[in-house]
Amino acid sequence: MSDDAPSKKAKGTVFVRKEICKGCSYCIDFCPPHCLAFSDDYNAKGYHYPVLSPAEDCTGCDLCGLYCPDFAIFGVKYEDIEKLRQDAATPVRVSA
Ligand code: SF4
Ligand code: SF4
Repeated sequence: MSDDAPSKKAKGTVFVRKEICKGCSYCIDFCPPHCLAFSDDYNAKGYHYPVLSPAEDCTGCDLCGLYCPDFAIFGVKYEDIEKLRQDAATPVRVSA
């Protein structure tokens, strides 16, 4: 990549509960932009777990979450995280 090429910004990210992961690789196999890979590390059960690589390719589509049989991973779009934050900051009006 040349120096003046715009750097890519990730549209989302993933959360991984690594101790639940069984290393089946479904999330890695089905990630559309191929931005998941196994960690070099092992969890306590002896399995490699997924990490983002390269992180900037993640769209937050959550297909990894749909395919994981153990709910050990899920993806979130950054715009949804921001919306949740804003909603939480908006006071709720209760009519009398
Ligand atoms: S959220 Fe989508 S793009 Fe990101 S790692 Fe999961 S499947 Fe891949
Ligand atoms: S699909 Fe779930 S259990 Fe399988 S490797 Fe991914 S996170 Fe681990």
